[in-house]
Amino acid sequence: MYSTIIHKLFLTCQETTLLLEVKNNLPLSFIQNIRLQIHLYICKNCQSYHQNLKTIDKILEGNIMNPSAEGNNDLKCQQLKTRIMKNITNEKK
Ligand SMILES: [Zn+2]
Repeated sequence: MYSTIIHKLFLTCQETTLLLEVKNNLPLSFIQNIRLQIHLYICKNCQSYHQNLKTIDKILEGNIMNPSAEGNNDLKCQQLKTRIMKNITNEKK
C-alpha cells in the first residue's frame, strides 16, 4: 500500500526525462505536471537535464528564427558541445 502511494506520487528519473521531452511537443495532464514538478524539486540531476534541454531548445529556436545566423552554426554547435560536456563533467564531480 505504502509503496503504491510512493510510486504514484514520485516519478523515476527515467520517467521524468521522458516527460520533459514530451512536454516540449505535447501538453501534459495536470497530474503529470504536478508529478514532474515534485520530481524536479527534489532531484538535482533532472534539474540539470531540464536546464540543458531548455538551453538546447533556445539555441535551436534562435537558429530557426534567425536564418542569418546560419553561418555561425559550426561555432555555435561547438560552443553547445563544450557547454554540455562542461555540465556533464561538473555533474560527475
Ligand atoms: Zn531525477
